[in-house]
Amino acid sequence: MIWNKEYECMDRDNLRDLQLTRLKEVVRRVYERLPFYGKKFSENHLHPDALKSLEDLKKFPLTRKSELREGYPFGLFTAPLEKIVEFHISSGTTGKPVVNGYTRKDIQVWSEVMARALACAGTTSKDVVHNAYGYGLFTGGLGIHYGAQLIGAKTIPISGGQTRRQIMIMQDFKSTVLTCTPSYALHIAEVAEEIGVDPRKLSLRVGILGAEPWSENMRKEIEVQLGIDALDIYGLTEIIGPGVAQECEAKEGMHIFEDHFLPEVIDPKTGKVLEEGEEGELVLTTLTREGTSLVRYRTGDITRINYQPCDCGRTIARINKIKGRVDDMLIIRGVNIFPSQIENVLLQIEEAEPHYQLILERKRGLDELTVELEVSPNTFFDEVKRVEKIEAKIEKEIEDALGLRVGVRLVESRTIERSMGKAKRIIDKRKSK
Ligand code: AMP
Ligand code: ZN
Repeated sequence: MIWNKEYECMDRDNLRDLQLTRLKEVVRRVYERLPFYGKKFSENHLHPDALKSLEDLKKFPLTRKSELREGYPFGLFTAPLEKIVEFHISSGTTGKPVVNGYTRKDIQVWSEVMARALACAGTTSKDVVHNAYGYGLFTGGLGIHYGAQLIGAKTIPISGGQTRRQIMIMQDFKSTVLTCTPSYALHIAEVAEEIGVDPRKLSLRVGILGAEPWSENMRKEIEVQLGIDALDIYGLTEIIGPGVAQECEAKEGMHIFEDHFLPEVIDPKTGKVLEEGEEGELVLTTLTREGTSLVRYRTGDITRINYQPCDCGRTIARINKIKGRVDDMLIIRGVNIFPSQIENVLLQIEEAEPHYQLILERKRGLDELTVELEVSPNTFFDEVKRVEKIEAKIEKEIEDALGLRVGVRLVESRTIERSMGKAKRIIDKRKSK
């Protein structure tokens, strides 16, 4: 189902014209309202008038998260404070958070793109949307909520936590659409089994899962365990929250709502804009935001862009599943690797359960990675030989697939902490030494 055919299936030349008109306004807006952009533009001898085509955007400076942190709490609004009606805050743990301020119009834009995202996953007013993303300063809960309300779906604002109660509500209210992080979706399946409920027999049809990286094999695992289609949703607080991009039923990348968010992919080292299909860091410019407008914001997320029309009829571009964040890339003895790549290998292995953690340590001056992985409950840990054999097998699989030697340690079922929001995959013990 397509929520807004006019914009989602727009002729690309017309879309580019619209983007350019909006972009000119945004560039002027940040230049006039935010001293830090004014300074950056001047340092590069640029004025908003220098932007005559979409290609000219390349000349303009990139914006980093650290610059936004400096504006905490009210320093980065591009609308007067009295027009701001809602705040959200990014969930990063280092330094001061980034604040996004929304005007009434911004909330309308958010509801619109979220309605498109939900519809992209087939949601209609007949659906019961079980929204287990956290409500609060995190954008997940309210973002989904606004979109579901606009569609007229029946929204269950359950937020995260109390998983048994969630399952009871799902059974009684016959929830059809599950919205939460992929790791929480798995946990719901696990708890359902534990209390004797077959998760495949719930009324759930589709999951709209995001807020953290997850691999193709994780998708398969969730689809099998819950008996649903698992679709990916992408967004970030700095830009708006969820609803920047959403996967359609073709499962071949997430449609980015390009009339509101202008994407570029750059080489994270040089800042150079890459061609369609090349892997790099996603950079976004807001085209319609009032409260917090951003030009060329470096998301830190690694992906590729695809401008080919999709089988679903949409003409807007797609971004690939996010491989990880630039800051989460591990460099182990010269091999660059993202946790999602390790996940993808692990989940092909028969004995492995989809619960793992990556422990980083420094031993004799070298970084070492140990994968802690749960195995099925019927693995007998007293059979040391057998455990060692499985560990060695998994180590070999990882080495064959990724060219990386890691240690694998099997742990008993349910020993790795479950997450209700974003899962913590990396435990970095290097800094404490
Ligand atoms: P926050 O603003 O705190 O919710 O975090 C936004 C960040 O979460 C993004 O920049 C991504 O790193 C990550 N993220 C959000 N959605 C996805 C997704 N579908 N796949 C991978 N990472 C995601
Ligand atoms: Zn599509």
